Amino acid sequence: MHQTTTLRLILGDQLNPEHSWFRHRHDDVLYVMMEVRQETDYVLHHAQKIIAIFAGMRELARQLRAQGHRVHYLKIGDARNRQSLPANLDDAIEQFGASEFEYQMPDEWRLDEQLARYARNLPIPSRMADSEHFYTRHDEAAELFEGRKQWLMEHFYRTMRVKHGVLMDAAGKPEGGKWNYDHDNRKSWPGTPAEPEDTRPCHNHSALWQEIEACGARSFGEPHAAQFRWPQNRQEALQQLDGFIEHALPHFGEFQDAMSSRASRLFHSLLSFALNTKMLNPREVVAAVEQAWRKGRVPLASAEGYIRQVLGWREYVRGVYWSQMPAYGQQNVFGHALPLPQWFWTGQTGMRCLASAIGDSLQHAHAHHIHRLMVIGNFALLAGLDPQQVHEWYLGVYIDAFEWVELPNTLGMSQFADGGMLATKPYVSSAAYIDRMSDYCKGCRYDRKDRTGESACPFNALYWDFFAGNEAKLAGNPRIGMVYPQLRKMAPSDVQALRTRADALRGRLDEL
Ligand SMILES: Cc1cc2nc3c(=O)[nH]c(=O)nc-3n(C[C@H](O)[C@H](O)[C@H](O)COP(=O)(O)OP(=O)(O)OC[C@H]3O[C@@H](n4cnc5c(N)ncnc54)[C@H](O)[C@@H]3O)c2cc1C
Ligand code: SF4
Repeated sequence: MHQTTTLRLILGDQLNPEHSWFRHRHDDVLYVMMEVRQETDYVLHHAQKIIAIFAGMRELARQLRAQGHRVHYLKIGDARNRQSLPANLDDAIEQFGASEFEYQMPDEWRLDEQLARYARNLPIPSRMADSEHFYTRHDEAAELFEGRKQWLMEHFYRTMRVKHGVLMDAAGKPEGGKWNYDHDNRKSWPGTPAEPEDTRPCHNHSALWQEIEACGARSFGEPHAAQFRWPQNRQEALQQLDGFIEHALPHFGEFQDAMSSRASRLFHSLLSFALNTKMLNPREVVAAVEQAWRKGRVPLASAEGYIRQVLGWREYVRGVYWSQMPAYGQQNVFGHALPLPQWFWTGQTGMRCLASAIGDSLQHAHAHHIHRLMVIGNFALLAGLDPQQVHEWYLGVYIDAFEWVELPNTLGMSQFADGGMLATKPYVSSAAYIDRMSDYCKGCRYDRKDRTGESACPFNALYWDFFAGNEAKLAGNPRIGMVYPQLRKMAPSDVQALRTRADALRGRLDEL
């Protein structure tokens, strides 16, 4: 047996083979990786999420070993696996006689707390290393917004563009003369150009899936174990990035907010899993997209729109998370308390937009942003679903869901449960918006134009009722625009009919 001095823990979302830890081989370093029930069970997860993370971990362990690193790997079904990080670490420290413990900075508050506590109580020295992934430090956004009640993403984004010299011209101005091309990014998709083919390699993870099932971990959603599409290593993720830039990025900007029953991916990158597990670094993604624009391969609106998501939103929500945890998760400014309707677990609802968005989520462990925000989240907020339950559903269902990015998006951006710290207004709409951005309404059993009849689209009454019921909290918001003047123009009996219909809908959500 080797004489170990340093034990280095690698978590399931730290799958970056380029980390400086691995630059040199040290015989006195032992890398520890473990598949544990602690991590499969803290929330009910989509089957693909568990498979994808374990497959990625196994692949990284294989690559590290092939490079000559020492790796201690515990599979989910190993008899000696005690299924929690501290218990397995205790065993490994003892088994290998470790004299130091190191880990990379966790991204989730839950793990950060657990490992900090664990390290504090160890009899051997310990050290936390940077994960070398993000542009920003934990507290960088908080520093920028110090003393402000509301955090404007746009301000953060522009600061990042300047600081990191992204899409800036020689005179220090934004390329193209504008910071933001959001207004060019709001087209619906008429069916052309065609959705790019999914060229991601297919893996057969049936054996791994059997191991996961055999250990008793609960999950939901379609495993697709025999035809699994999520990347399992950095090489595959890089190929996916190239394919995205070539085939989808040229149209990403235009159709960023579009939805269609005929195409679930449209021109999105599907790179969030590779990014959040750190197979890819955001800097290389942003650089590749900027480069594609500089070479004239994609329009500026597409490159800027994409970079805004990665350099802007992604880093910004992380800043919100770290500045607000742990209290952030408990926010519920509207006091919403309804449980999730059953169809969140089956996709079986007569509302065609929701059947499609939830159906995709259950099938692919993915739905693109506008489905998450303007269909599922929109409905959850209008219906008054408990934001904590909504958060747990999002955290479980999406392949890319890790709390640092999921919680601010769900609780803040989508449910406005933080009272508007993150989002400048509640992202809600009636059927009109969904109809404009998609083809769902045309084949739906509900009538998108009707508000109060038996077959009226539920979004309509719920929308007006939401604003009528929350006037004290929302009427002063300048971004809400015409909603309150319109409400005041309605006859009181019409408002009452909308509110009665909304109440009735809330009473039978399972049946919608
Ligand atoms: C309610 C809700 C929950 C969400 N939960 C998550 C989550 O758990 N994990 C997650 O990575 N994203 C989350 N998002 C953001 C976004 O929906 C996903 O990042 C995106 O759909 C992933 O698919 P894609 O890689 O094809 O994205 P693309 O549309 O191709 O976007 C490119 C990249 O930009 C980043 N990005 C885009 N929007 C955001 C955003 N709002 N916040 C942070 N990063 C962003 C992602 O890394 C994404 O891969 C959530 C959004 C909402 C409204
Ligand atoms: S009519 Fe309403 S429920 Fe049906 S697809 Fe349109 S918005 Fe969704």
